[in-house]
Amino acid sequence: MLRLYNTLSKTKEEFKPIDPGKVGMYNCGPTVYDYAHIGNLNAFLVADILRRQLEYNGYEVRQIMNITDVGHLTADDVNQADTGEDKMLKAVKRENKTPADIADFYTEKFFEDLKKLNIKKAAYYPRATAHIPQMIKIISGLIERGLAYEINGNVFYDIAKFSGYGKLSGKKIEDLKVGARLEEHPDKKNPWDFALWLKAPKEHILKWKSPWSLGYPGWHIECSAMSMEYLGETLDIHTGGEDHIFPHHENEIAQSEGFTGKKFSNYWLHNRFLLIDGAKMSKSKGNFYALKDIEEKGYIPMTFRLLILGSHYRSNLNFTENGIEQAKNNFKKISDWINNLENISQNIENPLPAEIDFSYIYLKRFEEAMNDDLNTPLALSVLYELITETNKLLTENKLGEKNAKNILVFWKKINKVFGLIIEKNITEIPAEISALAKERKIIRENKDFKKSDELREKIEKRGYTVEDLKNNNYLIKKL
Ligand SMILES: [Zn+2]
Repeated sequence: MLRLYNTLSKTKEEFKPIDPGKVGMYNCGPTVYDYAHIGNLNAFLVADILRRQLEYNGYEVRQIMNITDVGHLTADDVNQADTGEDKMLKAVKRENKTPADIADFYTEKFFEDLKKLNIKKAAYYPRATAHIPQMIKIISGLIERGLAYEINGNVFYDIAKFSGYGKLSGKKIEDLKVGARLEEHPDKKNPWDFALWLKAPKEHILKWKSPWSLGYPGWHIECSAMSMEYLGETLDIHTGGEDHIFPHHENEIAQSEGFTGKKFSNYWLHNRFLLIDGAKMSKSKGNFYALKDIEEKGYIPMTFRLLILGSHYRSNLNFTENGIEQAKNNFKKISDWINNLENISQNIENPLPAEIDFSYIYLKRFEEAMNDDLNTPLALSVLYELITETNKLLTENKLGEKNAKNILVFWKKINKVFGLIIEKNITEIPAEISALAKERKIIRENKDFKKSDELREKIEKRGYTVEDLKNNNYLIKKL
């Protein structure tokens, strides 16, 4: 039974889909005027792990992620995504390209990042600019229902008219007056109303015809339009970063529920921010990382995936040099373990049988951890415990081919959720090396350790080594 923390109810709830066996999930996707930063990638990885766990539990998941190719962002701080100047237009000036070229280029880069991180492909990645008619339909509906108003070609949502406003974030309209980052516009009746459609100034490149003006949509409306277009009026799960709870997701609820009169999403999952050395990531602070920056530092993308798995999605992951170095070591530990297991069958003779079928017990603990609101750090610790136990059995010469195979079956099962790509390092041991190792074993049985050391040297000169196990057994490894 999968339990998920629902931001809407602020409790862990048992997950129940609308249609038995099927899940419709929407994830707020990237803006494509620049490279995705590792905070965005964290959110996409969390969505991927959630999808994989749902599939592990037997659900068929239809995942939709939008591509925001009409700009809406202003501040350099990635956590302020609601007001001001259009970042796409900024990129147009910076790179001297058309908005479509910029969107295509960074969408391509985004897909490359997903591939490198082994993030499963969503069923569909709808683009905002291809769904303007759907947005116009919802805006018209909201005006008809008296929830939105038009002034001078601009349309705003009258949030005081929507009684459920604030149910996700816990914010009250009264609180919004003070300190909230509210979008300013002279045509707004109330400062806390938000834009659904804006009349385009002359110099604005991206603009579309609408019943109100030649203009462009507000940011929030795209997610209501595209999620309902591909998943129906009520979603099972909607995810995003915690910065989206307010105003973005609160506004999505107001738009969608105001339009359909139905509940918009049954479960809302939000990941906490990723911090860099304890601080929020921002371009102005110079601590803004894309995946390529991490790769340039010499870390493979799988190291970053493992780093994310090592922290619970509802706690702030602090990205540090030490942390990624630790993840690198852990990744090597897992890779060595897998490769050892794969090599065991061909290189170990007559092992003593291990007495426990530990993979079953570990599997149960893994499942319990993951089904408890995706507790990935606990699930990983189960894996690390198994690695320690396996390595101990190996040196005691208790790990035979059958055990190794059982553990590999266990690994393949849990790795469907972890999604780690391990480079296979299976070594076909050359006959010459096998013969030398066998010769050395006989020499060791006769306790001629000087000769045995010479043979080890000979083996190592050829790029292999032998690890001595109990009862004079051994494991050959590539150096
Ligand atoms: Zn969204």
